[in-house]
Amino acid sequence: MNRSTGRHFLQIPGPTNVPLPVLAAIAQPTVDHRGPGFPSLTFEVLEGMAAVFKTSAAIVIYPASGTGAWEAALVNSLSPGDTVLMVETGHFASLWRKMATRLGLKVEFLDGDWRRGANASEIETRLVEDHAQKIKAVAIVHNETSTGAVSNVASVRRALDAAKHPALLMVDTISSLGSIDYRHDEWGVDVTVGGSQKGLMLPPGLSFNAISQKARLAARSARLPRVFWDWEDMIAANLTGYFPSTPATNMLQGLKVALNLLQEETLPVVFARHERAAEATRQCVRHWGLEILCSDPAHYSSSLTAVLMPDGQSADALRSMILQRSSVSLGNGLGKLADRVFRIGHLGDFNDASLLGSLAAIEAGLLTSEIAIKSGGVEKAIASLVSSGHLQIAAE
Ligand SMILES: *Cc1c(COP(=O)(O)O)cnc(C)c1O
Repeated sequence: MNRSTGRHFLQIPGPTNVPLPVLAAIAQPTVDHRGPGFPSLTFEVLEGMAAVFKTSAAIVIYPASGTGAWEAALVNSLSPGDTVLMVETGHFASLWRKMATRLGLKVEFLDGDWRRGANASEIETRLVEDHAQKIKAVAIVHNETSTGAVSNVASVRRALDAAKHPALLMVDTISSLGSIDYRHDEWGVDVTVGGSQKGLMLPPGLSFNAISQKARLAARSARLPRVFWDWEDMIAANLTGYFPSTPATNMLQGLKVALNLLQEETLPVVFARHERAAEATRQCVRHWGLEILCSDPAHYSSSLTAVLMPDGQSADALRSMILQRSSVSLGNGLGKLADRVFRIGHLGDFNDASLLGSLAAIEAGLLTSEIAIKSGGVEKAIASLVSSGHLQIAAE
């Protein structure tokens, strides 16, 4: 392969681009995790994460990818044979379901077409039917990264309340935290699962649980085996500023800086920046004449857009050509969407230039592949960005 010149654009929906100050923080010398200086780092990142989760609940940080925090949520709060209600929003919901099954839980899976978020009224109907209250948890994915569809968590909370059902509410926010508004406390979520490598602008390697009092209480009688994932071991050690085993010290140094960056920009501006990029992307895709996978505009994701290929065209061939010619990495289709969609990540650390550059590279790739599209989508994206103004200035 020829040497590629210029910058590589990482436009996949996670891992995302890591800002230089975060990379520099991670590159600092490794510190003593049992030394006197460490607790201040622990307290600062826990406080910063509380602001991002919008919670005063307990938070734990694992040196693991998001999958680890999924497992932690399940093994801490449930017992073998417990029933969990999950919703088939896409590939990630399906993987979480598979994990629950492998752990010995019974999963009731509400069918979905991978083109929209969870349907709260279907959840409510199922909960109302559950007279014996066999369902111990409802687990949903906030932003389904395989499809670009968001579930309305507040409406799922209302469904639980309306059904007067005591099940725990668990939400995966791995690709929404730090890019789409999320409110652990206000939405009455019991366990929120997060990861470092998407909206939080860090490399992969950290994941999180935010845990309500109700979930901690459930954990006392929950019998799934856990050692490494045990919440209470972690919470007890964190109270002193330390960890039960060696934390990912350099990642925590990076997390501290990433949280400062989010704070400096302010969360409302961060969310508006993502919405603005998503809208520009959708206008571009529509102009091309391609179909946005998410079929319900109320569920559009502002962290990524999944685009359906015309029948008979390979998304992977297109992606590989765009990578070779323009050094832009796009997300692949996952699970049953393999080769059928490409995903444009517009989350984390990016700006108008990186978005427009990526969309232009995609348009050039589509034209080169002789896929029947209408050219000029990028102009639509520019017009959309121009008409929505410049947020950082607008926020001042
Ligand atoms: C990325 C992602 C995961 C998986 O996280 P890993 O860090 O790959 O273990 C789970 N859920 C969602 C919604 C994701 O976007």
